[in-house]
Amino acid sequence: MTAADDLDTITDRWTTLQERAGTRPTTTWPPAMGITRLMTEEERAEQAAERADTAPDAPGPRPAPVDVDVLDLMKTIETGLITAADWLASRVQRAPFQAPTGRGWNDDVHRASVLLAAKDAADPRRWKYTGQRTAPEAAEWLALRLRGATGPFRGLDEGERLAVAEVASSGAALIRKALGDARQRTAIPQPCPLPCGGQLVLEGGDGAPPVVRCEDCGRTWTEAPSDAA
Ligand SMILES: [Zn+2]
Repeated sequence: MTAADDLDTITDRWTTLQERAGTRPTTTWPPAMGITRLMTEEERAEQAAERADTAPDAPGPRPAPVDVDVLDLMKTIETGLITAADWLASRVQRAPFQAPTGRGWNDDVHRASVLLAAKDAADPRRWKYTGQRTAPEAAEWLALRLRGATGPFRGLDEGERLAVAEVASSGAALIRKALGDARQRTAIPQPCPLPCGGQLVLEGGDGAPPVVRCEDCGRTWTEAPSDAA
């Protein structure tokens, strides 16, 4: 696994970590997706009524309690990635182009160079040293640098690659340890809507999109993108 792959792992699984930490209003396991789609209107109304009451064991999505251990882990990973991005940007990111001063705005050449300088400084490919920076932003930016994507940057030297790789692999290892590599499987108390009427199983929780699968006919259902939270 390359360092850039490790960074992709961090980016891809960050949402799952947030869900695990309870910092994101989310579903309990199993997620409601797929199940609601297979319900009849009557069952849907029943579930809505159950959820409307305040019984703590009512089924359905509800805010999970905040998990302090996962929050600590996320803070560790985020600090490492942002520190690495700040450090790498200070070395490889070219300073914004400066427009020459001392000439009037009526000078077309000067005006053009001022616009060029503003555009260069605002290049979205640049790493931001201030404002809100997140772990996925830092991971994506670092992965682009490792892959040599174009922008106002010079190429990385071997020492810079190794330093980023170290941060990437320790971050990805922490996430794998926290979330596990295994895909979770949960039986759904709902028969397959196809004639087979087989047992449905929900698979997911590993960062990849969840899938509902019929164990008998093998038919699968995935969450429609338009319904994504
Ligand atoms: Zn089936």
